Amino acid sequence: QFVLFGNQIIERDHVSIDMEDRGYNFGDGIYEVVYIYGGEPFSLNEHFRRFEESASKLDMKLPYSIEQVKEKTAELIKANNIHNGIVYIQMTRGASPRAHLYERESASLITGFARKMDPPADAQEKGIKTYLTPDIRWLRCDIKSLNLLGNTMAKRIAADHSCGEALLHRDGICTEGSSSNLFIVKNNEVHTHPATNLILNGITRQHIIEITGEEGITVNEEPFTTEELQAADEVFISSTTMEIAPVISVEGAVQATYPIGSVTRRLQEKLKDRIKQHRVH
Ligand code: PMP
Repeated sequence: QFVLFGNQIIERDHVSIDMEDRGYNFGDGIYEVVYIYGGEPFSLNEHFRRFEESASKLDMKLPYSIEQVKEKTAELIKANNIHNGIVYIQMTRGASPRAHLYERESASLITGFARKMDPPADAQEKGIKTYLTPDIRWLRCDIKSLNLLGNTMAKRIAADHSCGEALLHRDGICTEGSSSNLFIVKNNEVHTHPATNLILNGITRQHIIEITGEEGITVNEEPFTTEELQAADEVFISSTTMEIAPVISVEGAVQATYPIGSVTRRLQEKLKDRIKQHRVH
């Protein structure tokens, strides 16, 4: 396996990371996951725009230009001969003697890997079960940071209840999934949490919002409650790796089952069309 280490594509075995890298000590870093369809990364520009935004929100500097990061990503995909799969790129603030205070001029470290993976056809077709649990994360969920304990703990709770995803609520307001954005459909209108500091503004989420516009479906980017989740006609989640997955049930803080409805199916289909066209904005 070839990986990206700094600005080089090298064998994974040859990577050496300092044990005082701030990513390792503090989770002081950011990442992106991009899906590769037919050898081509989908929405690469959008992902790397968000990468730059995450870096800037954390006062982190790129060690080389974003254009070069994109070139290295393309090289990484080629080197590993990935047809369908994902590419993971992360950047940490780099190594320095362990101390909370970071220096602005510290040398960031970019690493990445690519891996074969097929879209989760089963989840997309049959839907997934979810578990609703309190959102215990920090207040900058808009940053795609390496600090994911609130997410990983929620995912574990969901799995312990035989559910594929955890849905999160903050004081009764549904925010998102542990690794996905959350949508409900009520009376043929789509509702999803606004892109505030409380959620990650998913690239897939943004595609879905654009698609609803093209399809003449009303989308309300307004907070909605756990009661509204319970009473929804359809529920679905979205992410780079899942695309759109129907939600067939929720357990935990509220309980409900949902049919896989026509709005979800239509959006799934239109998103697949977009992916086929490899539209890059
Ligand atoms: N929210 C969270 C918390 C996530 O981890 C992810 C996926 N990594 C998403 C939303 C979906 O984002 P995207 O569509 O860009 O993959």
